[in-house]
Amino acid sequence: AQERYASIRGKPAITTCGKRVELHMNAGLLADLPSLTNSGAEGVGLFRTELQFLVRNKMPRRTELVAVYKRVLAAAGERPVVFRTLDIGSDKVLPYMKPTDEPNPALGWRAIRVGLDRPGVMRMQLQALLRATEGRPLTLMFPFVAQYDEFRAARAEVDKAVAIERKLGHVVPEKITVGTMLETPSLAYASKKFFEDVEFISIGGNDLKQFFFAADRENERVRRRYDTLNVSFLTFLEEIVKRCESTGTPLSFCGEDAGRPIEAVCLAAIGLRRLSMRPASIGPVKSLLMRTNLDALYQVICDARERGDQSVREHVMEFMRWQG
Ligand code: PEP
Ligand code: MG
Repeated sequence: AQERYASIRGKPAITTCGKRVELHMNAGLLADLPSLTNSGAEGVGLFRTELQFLVRNKMPRRTELVAVYKRVLAAAGERPVVFRTLDIGSDKVLPYMKPTDEPNPALGWRAIRVGLDRPGVMRMQLQALLRATEGRPLTLMFPFVAQYDEFRAARAEVDKAVAIERKLGHVVPEKITVGTMLETPSLAYASKKFFEDVEFISIGGNDLKQFFFAADRENERVRRRYDTLNVSFLTFLEEIVKRCESTGTPLSFCGEDAGRPIEAVCLAAIGLRRLSMRPASIGPVKSLLMRTNLDALYQVICDARERGDQSVREHVMEFMRWQG
């Protein structure tokens, strides 16, 4: 399938109305790294570090993690990599961790909540990440931050890790960029100060959608019930885009929908200019973006919204057929 898109692999995704959309890839295993070149990704928009923890039967050691992160950075070269700190709990349970027996794991003790309550593992991981850079810049992102204070506390952990590394005599990155995932509606309505403070935001559409519609992403009975192109959800996403624009906060989208061509062009139409997806999706998404007029598509979305339609999908599909 990659071959089909070989002719556009090295080209930027520029729409027919002249808008540039950055396409990055999601990764998490060393096996993903060759895709950096094969897919034409502009970088790794989401490196899911928990996968390295999930494929082992015991907690990885810091030295092992340093080696893994070094390989990732070496493979990426000049391309940026966004490392997401451990996102465990809920659908991602470490076999060697004590089970928590929670009634609602998706709403439970997971991701940054674990990282802040039991900072030992996150500290070890942060040190490994800092060490792997060998002085080069580092980009970090926290999972499942639901309020500004959690972001502040998580960033303070980074500062602490830097201080420890310095004390141990290790070089620290020349620049550390710290951002967060936006996966709960609460964070979308954090104070303006948060948006000014955070260095970038990446929308985790998988989780954000499940909480927006209160529909479990793992539950087959309900998970397809609400369309991503539902007018309410698109309007909500557009509001996040506008809030980020007003503070100049870089914004991306890294849920699975970014890799679905129709969804991806709609995300671009409402203003998202950086999408991160599975590598095999980059070709198809780029191909459609390069054939699309986002201004015209945005009008189609607005018209459907005006008319009171539940989802804009049908109209978008018709527009795509007409556009060719
Ligand atoms: C998401 O929630 O959209 C996301 C990218 O994170 P994950 O799928 O790893 O929860
Ligand atoms: Mg998530």
